[in-house]
Amino acid sequence: MPKKNSHDVIIIGAGPAGLSFARALADTGLKICLIEKQTIATLANPPLDGRDIALTHDSISLMKQTGMFDHLPKNEISPIREARVFSGGSSYFLGFDTKQMNKNALGFFVPNNEIRRASYRAVKPFKNVTIKDNITVKKTTTDDARGTVHLSNGEILTASLIVAADSRFSGARAQMGIPVTTKDFGRVAIVCRMAHTKPHDQITYECFFDSWTMAVLPLQGDKSSLVLTLPAEEAEAVMAMAPAAFNNRIMQNLGDRLGKMKLIGERHSYPLVAVYASHFTSKRFALMGDAAVGMHPVTAHGYNLGLAGAHVLANEIRKALSLGLDIGDATVLDAYSRTHRRASAFLYYGTNALVNVYTDNRPVALALRAIGLRIANHLPPFKRYVTKQLTGKAA
Ligand SMILES: Cc1cc2nc3c(=O)[nH]c(=O)nc-3n(C[C@H](O)[C@H](O)[C@H](O)COP(=O)(O)OP(=O)(O)OC[C@H]3O[C@@H](n4cnc5c(N)ncnc54)[C@H](O)[C@@H]3O)c2cc1C
Repeated sequence: MPKKNSHDVIIIGAGPAGLSFARALADTGLKICLIEKQTIATLANPPLDGRDIALTHDSISLMKQTGMFDHLPKNEISPIREARVFSGGSSYFLGFDTKQMNKNALGFFVPNNEIRRASYRAVKPFKNVTIKDNITVKKTTTDDARGTVHLSNGEILTASLIVAADSRFSGARAQMGIPVTTKDFGRVAIVCRMAHTKPHDQITYECFFDSWTMAVLPLQGDKSSLVLTLPAEEAEAVMAMAPAAFNNRIMQNLGDRLGKMKLIGERHSYPLVAVYASHFTSKRFALMGDAAVGMHPVTAHGYNLGLAGAHVLANEIRKALSLGLDIGDATVLDAYSRTHRRASAFLYYGTNALVNVYTDNRPVALALRAIGLRIANHLPPFKRYVTKQLTGKAA
């Protein structure tokens, strides 16, 4: 019979959400164990994955609170001054800027691998946090007294609370029998970086064409990050395109806004599947990050939501500790679930509805899109609401 090793909290998945949660709890002195299928060497030096994450002001504040922000290289933090939304090739756009905010940026782009690296570095100094790497969780169970995980090396670990942050395709969520609403968009996101000859002036472009979308995100220098979302069959051809043909396709559709454009490095692709768990908690068990809410990237909320959720649960656990309560108690988990569902449900379903409108090619939908931008441009409360969603509550 393998020996059982006990902890206060076991976190499955040392991605951005799992590591942020570990860091948010680390100074409580709780005995925390992270289980991750990648190696420590990869966590310490995560490779570029093509994603540039739009961070809200709220996320920046949370990252500053835990010291994660100090680990982000300053030359990789790119402010967003303005966002422009276009329908098709029209030059008319719906614009969002910082004029009505007490801030000088709508938000900031940071490469995902730098967020992962900073999260790992922020956790590393804590002796009460251990990371078991290069290992997977095979089985997760919980009962009134404890949660138990069985690892691929035969080891069995127990804890008062198990938190699954093991991606939108969470194995632990399935092992605990928690159903999810899944929305497969039948599309693929292709992400890459491009250099250009004209400055971007820190403007983000979001262009909705008949069957595909293109977001151009300003980085430091004359460089931008591109996110194309395409029907799955077309994406394969775009991934295989020679760089010169790819450059031409982008320039044809973006016009002369950024001058001559050139692909830098690799293209990465992600199938677009969104998930929303039917409940975020169960007995001595909680879902976190994409395992709870896996968003479509168009509204740039996945990481921001995961980080906020990590701090909500960490704060509920701190409250329980100060009252001498069991950290895995249902009251602690219910409070997290209520707050995180309130924060995420509208964003999740609203984002899916937006994607539906902008990927429907029937003439009536195309007309509504064009009219919609014009109406929205003249509705200050709508623009204020969207700006707040882009920037976070602190804006
Ligand atoms: C193209 C694209 C653009 C995006 N842009 C933005 C944006 O602008 N703003 C934003 O906020 N969000 C954005 N996102 C979303 C953001 O990247 C995710 O929300 C975030 O990375 C999720 O973090 P996570 O830790 O929950 O999951 P993941 O990053 O998926 O990490 C899960 C971890 O769990 C580990 N794991 C999985 N299974 C097991 C197992 N059985 N045992 C042990 N370990 C396991 C994995 O190895 C991984 O390290 C974007 C996403 C994409 C695809």
